[in-house]
Amino acid sequence: MFSSLSEKLQDVFKKLRGKGKLTEKDIKDAMKEVKLALLEADVNYKVVKDFINTVTQKAVGEEVLESLTPAQQVIKIVYDEMVNLLGGNDTKLTFSPSGFSIYMMVGLQGSGKTTTAGKLAALLKKQGKKPLLIACDIYRPAAIKQLEVVAEKVGVSCYADYDKKDAVKIAVEGVNFAKSNRFDIAIVDTAGRLHINEELMNELVAIKSAIKPTEILLVLDAMTGQDAVNVAEAFNNQLGIDGIIMTKLDGDTRGGAALSVKAITGKPIKFAGMGEKMEDLEVFYPDRMASRILG
Ligand code: GDP
Repeated sequence: MFSSLSEKLQDVFKKLRGKGKLTEKDIKDAMKEVKLALLEADVNYKVVKDFINTVTQKAVGEEVLESLTPAQQVIKIVYDEMVNLLGGNDTKLTFSPSGFSIYMMVGLQGSGKTTTAGKLAALLKKQGKKPLLIACDIYRPAAIKQLEVVAEKVGVSCYADYDKKDAVKIAVEGVNFAKSNRFDIAIVDTAGRLHINEELMNELVAIKSAIKPTEILLVLDAMTGQDAVNVAEAFNNQLGIDGIIMTKLDGDTRGGAALSVKAITGKPIKFAGMGEKMEDLEVFYPDRMASRILG
């Protein structure tokens, strides 16, 4: 993950460490290289520009230049700003104070939404919760079946209704079923389409207003780079989202989507998909991710 970006940044830092005392020019040269590395990793241009400006401003201060370990301090500034870029401290899943939480999973087809719904149920079950999966992707019978298979794999119940053709009704009935059967979490898997369109958004808006989810979680495929960021912007503007689950971070993604999406949408990544197996979902920690990238 992010190996090319990681290598390039480590090279820049190695050069800085080798210099001892630093001048303003040393820092600006290093920042040029950091900028290139981020752009090559497909990070959004505006995000890169802001990041470099902030780091440069902090790094060329007298305190850093006059210090005994200037390179160390510059690296620390880059690290801190990268943690911010990845979401800061704002990445925890919210539980409803009522004791019954509803998570609505949204995303484009193929992003990993159904698999991730199962993974999230497994993770919450491990934490001692009792989740119910609700199948609202009524346009593809195969999607309902897939959710049932996933539910069985992780040992949680799944609410499905093959005969009903109204996703809003199924969502409401599923949530009611969960409440009356002592589940404490409902995870609603909604329909995905190949592209964002009005019909998809209208249905999601209707489900949102009918079930009032605790959080709407957008599932995004990290491999799709800046497209993923555009998708996130559209979902956030048209539906409103609370957090992002970035899937396929185990692949050879360059990192652009993960490093851009919080700055562009204001919404943090909360979980990371790290493989195809049901246990391959991790809580997303910006500080750990920044350490992984910076080495
Ligand atoms: P949906 O159409 O959005 O419901 O997507 P699916 O859940 O069917 O997933 C599409 C494909 O992506 C499947 O082959 C999944 O196994 C795969 N997938 C999902 N999440 C991950 C992940 O984190 N890493 C990898 N490598 N594959 C994933």
